This record gives sequence, structure tokens and C-alpha cells, in this order.
Amino acid sequence: MTYWYPGVQAAIELVRRRFGAVPVILGGIYATLCPEHARAQSGADIVVAGPGERGVFAALRDALGDGVPPGPDLSGLDALPAPAFGLLRDRTWLPVLTSRGCPFRCTFCASHLLAGDFEQRAPASVAAEIENHRALFGTRHFAFYDDALLLDKDRHAVPLLETIAAAATPVRLHAPNGLHIREIDGPMARVFRAAGFSSLYLSLESADASLVRERTPKTSPDDLPRALDALEAAGYQRCDVGVYLIMGLPGQSAGSVDESIRFVRGLGATPRVAFFSPIPGTAEWDTLARTGVVSEGTDPLLHNKIAFAYLKGDLAPAEFERINRLAAAG
Ligand code: SF4
Repeated sequence: MTYWYPGVQAAIELVRRRFGAVPVILGGIYATLCPEHARAQSGADIVVAGPGERGVFAALRDALGDGVPPGPDLSGLDALPAPAFGLLRDRTWLPVLTSRGCPFRCTFCASHLLAGDFEQRAPASVAAEIENHRALFGTRHFAFYDDALLLDKDRHAVPLLETIAAAATPVRLHAPNGLHIREIDGPMARVFRAAGFSSLYLSLESADASLVRERTPKTSPDDLPRALDALEAAGYQRCDVGVYLIMGLPGQSAGSVDESIRFVRGLGATPRVAFFSPIPGTAEWDTLARTGVVSEGTDPLLHNKIAFAYLKGDLAPAEFERINRLAAAG
């Protein structure tokens, strides 16, 4: 994230020490969300904002001239080369990305800024990648890092998971990024179970219906009881289902977070509270900028959720420590 930029500076310094005058190209989340800051502060020669495969070959040609080979086929995500997981030392678990981006525009989220238009891979291609990595490396755990894994589920997640289930290979699947609750019905929950999903996290953010409507239209609190019923009927324990809640949104009261924790716990699931982090380019950032809390010159260190909560947040530190204790209490 943007607030780790001192680590980027240190890494570039090490690269310079080792490779001298070789041009350094910087991409990634910090470079995309704060390109001007990265150009001025990172020490890189070239900063590529946005998805790397679209900009890095042009940057290489600028730096090295015409001898640079043509870039990859950009006709779609499935045309890109598979990740070079052979370079990893530990392949106990591996990440999987079946799509990029998200068509929603939650006010606090930068997905659309980082990934551009929402794009999904072909289910057969993802299933083949998982099977290939299982066979090559013996990996049993695969974690989906999609922002919107369940969108258009009948053409995407359902056929993918059915293929994995039909192969009957011993894999365990995980969804640490949070799943769209609205999409979880009986058939979806049964496919999760059959394919080997063993950890499930759902994205609710708040039990306050008006907050959800205005800031995160991906779901509604009314969707959660139905989704948990479906998961329980498919064989999951409710307490094993984590439900993400957000704390520290501008204007959000402590009582609203308390209510959300009680709502989730009352349904038997486990609340997982995460701090709001102000991200440049989002609607929440614009609101904070209008009220003078942040500005273009704000140091990206302040984008850190803990730094922001302590230094600029609406809740007193004692309040979010109390809320954390409430969320952790069994
Ligand atoms: S649904 Fe999730 S990924 Fe999509 S915009 Fe909202 S928070 Fe971001």
C-alpha cells in the first residue's frame, strides 16, 4: 500500500547499490495511487501507474530503445503468462486470481482505480491452472484474491467450482478477500462445500442499512441471515464464517459499529472488524479533502489505517480499543 513507500525507497536504494546506473522502473499500488509522490520520492527512474503489463514494455522501450521484445498478448487475462510460482520457496499455499477489479464503486475502495474495468477469466482456464500447480508443486491450499469472485456466478464461480469438485482432487480453497453476501444461496453454498472451500469470509461492512446503501451497495444487512442459513445447510458451522465490518468511516459512530458486531454475533457468525483507510481517488478521500482533513500534499504515511484512526479519525483511541475487545469477545 501507499504508506509502505519508505520500504520502496529502501528497496530502490539497494537495487541502485547493486546494479548502479541500470534504470529502475516502479509499478504497483503505491505507484498507481500516488504517481506524483512516487516520481518525486521513490528514487525510481520511471513510474508506471495502472496494470503493469500495459505500461511496463513501453517504459522498457523508453529506457532501453528498440531492442526490447514485444510485450505479452493483451487480448484478455487468460492470454497472459501464468505466475512464475516456480520461483517461490514455499508453495504450501498459492494465490489465485480469476478476475480483476470490481464493477461496484464503494466509497472507500480503490479497486476500480487499481484494476480498471472489471474483467473475468474463463473458468476452465482457472481450473486448469489450479490443477497444474497442484500437480507440479503438490500445493493443497489455494486462496482466491478476487475482489468480486461471485459476480455473474452462474457463468463464472459455479462452473469453476463444479470443475474443481468433479476432479475430486484434495484441495482446500480460501477466500480471504471477502465474498459478496448477496450471491450466496443454497446452490452456491453447496458448490463451495463440494469444491473444498474451508475458510469463508463475507463482506458486510455494517449492519446500518442506510450506511450500507450509501457507501457500499454490494449488499444489504438483510442478505446475511439468508446466506448464513444456506452455508449452515451446506455443512458449515456458523462460527467458522468470518464477517468483515468496517470501523472508522468518516461520520460513523461507535454505536453503529457496536450494533454491527452484535448483529453478526447474534446470527452465530464471527465479526472481523477492519479499520477504514483513506485512499486517494476514492469518494471518501474527496469528502475528507473537502473538509480539510487531507489534501494533495498529505504524506502517504497518513493513509495507514492505524495512523489515520489515531491522528485524524472521528473515534477516540479508547473507543476503538473498546470496540476491538467487543469484537474479540466470544
Ligand atoms: S464490492 Fe468490494 S471490491 Fe467492489 S468496490 Fe465494493 S469494497 Fe471494492
